[in-house]
Amino acid sequence: MRNGRLCCPGKNRRSAGRVTGDVKRQAKRRWRDPTRFFSWGQKQQLIRQANGRCEHTPPLWFRCPAEGTEADHIHPWSRGGPTEMWNGQLLCRRHNRRKSNRVPSPLYSWRLARWRKRY
Ligand SMILES: [Zn+2]
Repeated sequence: MRNGRLCCPGKNRRSAGRVTGDVKRQAKRRWRDPTRFFSWGQKQQLIRQANGRCEHTPPLWFRCPAEGTEADHIHPWSRGGPTEMWNGQLLCRRHNRRKSNRVPSPLYSWRLARWRKRY
């Protein structure tokens, strides 16, 4: 009769497998691009694309009039954002500081893409 209880270790093994899956997902979230900063060439491209102006556009307002001097990761590098052109935007010093490592909302990215068509 005691052998009938051996089904329990099997159950534990299955839940242990689920834990491993969680660890893997966490490792994926912590991935970082080995390239920390945009290259000079990438920055020049961003400047040309944005006409040298900061790309920050507050909701229901016009685009920031300041000169864009810093290449910024739209999705922060520290949170797994790659250092690639599609993830870059040109910001003025003030807006780059203010954004720091916040992840932008999907709405922000969508509005940025829409504004870019009008540059
Ligand atoms: Zn700005």
